Amino acid sequence: MADQTFRLFIAGEWVEPSKGGYAVVNPATEQVVAEAPEAGVDQVNDAVAAARDAFPAWSRRTPEERGALLHRLADAFERRIPELAPLVQAETGATMRVAKTLQVTQCAVRFRRYADLAKENHDIPLPPSVMPNTALAKGGLIGALAARQPVGVVACITPYNFPLTNMAGKVAPALAMGNTVVVKPAPQDPLAVLKFAEAVEEAGLPPGVFNVVTGSGADAGQALVEADIDMVSFTGSTPVGQRIAESAGRGMKRLLLELGGKGAAIVFDDGDLAGAVAGIGSTWSFHSGQICTAPTRVIAHRSVHDQLVEKLAAYAGHLKVGDPLADDTVVGPVISQVQRERVESLLEAGRQDGAEFAVGGERPDLETGYYVAPTLLTGVTNDMRVAQDEFFGPVVVVETFDDEDEAIALANGTAFGLYDYVWTADAVRGYRVARQLRSGNVGINTVQRNHEAPFGGFKMSGVGRDGGVFGLHAYSELQSIVWPS
Ligand code: NDP
Repeated sequence: MADQTFRLFIAGEWVEPSKGGYAVVNPATEQVVAEAPEAGVDQVNDAVAAARDAFPAWSRRTPEERGALLHRLADAFERRIPELAPLVQAETGATMRVAKTLQVTQCAVRFRRYADLAKENHDIPLPPSVMPNTALAKGGLIGALAARQPVGVVACITPYNFPLTNMAGKVAPALAMGNTVVVKPAPQDPLAVLKFAEAVEEAGLPPGVFNVVTGSGADAGQALVEADIDMVSFTGSTPVGQRIAESAGRGMKRLLLELGGKGAAIVFDDGDLAGAVAGIGSTWSFHSGQICTAPTRVIAHRSVHDQLVEKLAAYAGHLKVGDPLADDTVVGPVISQVQRERVESLLEAGRQDGAEFAVGGERPDLETGYYVAPTLLTGVTNDMRVAQDEFFGPVVVVETFDDEDEAIALANGTAFGLYDYVWTADAVRGYRVARQLRSGNVGINTVQRNHEAPFGGFKMSGVGRDGGVFGLHAYSELQSIVWPS
């Protein structure tokens, strides 16, 4: 792979980067996967100009035409899966199970879902209203429609964990609704997204409808947010989301922000402990905890605390850490040396605050790779940094509660509000608790998703919702059209 050349995709052309390239590193082997292009600010602006030029014609295409093109794009993408799966695996360090399913096939699923949704009419009919004569105009029966219009040029800025899937979650609904896009993948793993543009070219999307720029630092992303765009759709950390919102606010740009999380998992005394362990254990077993929705903060009823910790410790202790290409590996590396150091320094803060390491705490003894051992911290209280800050790694912390109100208060006691979980055998209690959690999503007795449900965060976890048809709505503006009957 190291000899493959990657270029920017702007206005339907493959463009040499004006600032050279930088190395994308495999987090397991620490070897260079390939050089990614370093876009200049001028090239970011070229991409935005191309998207601006392409917008009028693309937005006027019929929804059926856009849907058909998105299906062709999904076909062209699927033909490339044998080539893209190893590439995305190498740049993310994902285990093969994660790479083949969520890194790749989910991307095609998203394009097909929005290709179909594009063909439906998403305008909202309104009943006619009898209006009296006024100083403004003659009265009568006035009809109205809330029409959905595309927002315009959308900057899609994504994080490093699931590069293709995150890109698809933004680009597919945005294009389906008639917007044009400039994509800026994360610097750590942009290669598969650059290759994806080959599928865009083959499918015959008009030049400028889809553009990709990449860079190793914040310059490209910053330039994109400040450019002549209409909307920023950003998934990433809360501090970067705040900076983007400040900058976008000056130009009144529309925002969809999917930010960090610190998922609480409340386990009641009647909860299915085996189910809870499997769900909470996904923080270790699913992409090394590099997922914003992970149930990383267990809030256990005192009567089941010891039993739950014992089961979680046994689960974590048996997970094989190592080469993501090996069939039996469950926990691969985190994305980079920098991220491993972030996780380790937060663990050290936990140690100093008095948290106990039931499992983990040492670096795995492996020759290469940015590994963090699955770690379980107990004796944690909400005032500790390990209870408040996001790890984005394979670390679970455990707190204790005595009654329902305390569990809810603890769960709500962080700045985040993205995804919480409740384990209880009592359906009424599960629902009652869910309704009191200040969180955009709540799983009762499951970590499974429903992709048709709206997805997004309360509080510092973001602004806006996507998922299912809500994804299309996110990339539209409502326009009221009224007429006399
Ligand atoms: P970052 O916020 O560091 O980066 C995300 C993207 O923003 C990258 O493409 C980055 O590229 C870009 N960026 C950074 N600074 C700026 C800027 N000033 N202007 C414009 N763009 C900028 O997140 P990570 O990649 O480290 O991802 C991990 C974070 O993402 C976690 O906090 C996690 O919770 C969150 N996340 C949230 C999800 C959700 O749906 N809520 C899902 C997945 C992850 P560059 O650095 O090159 O500029």
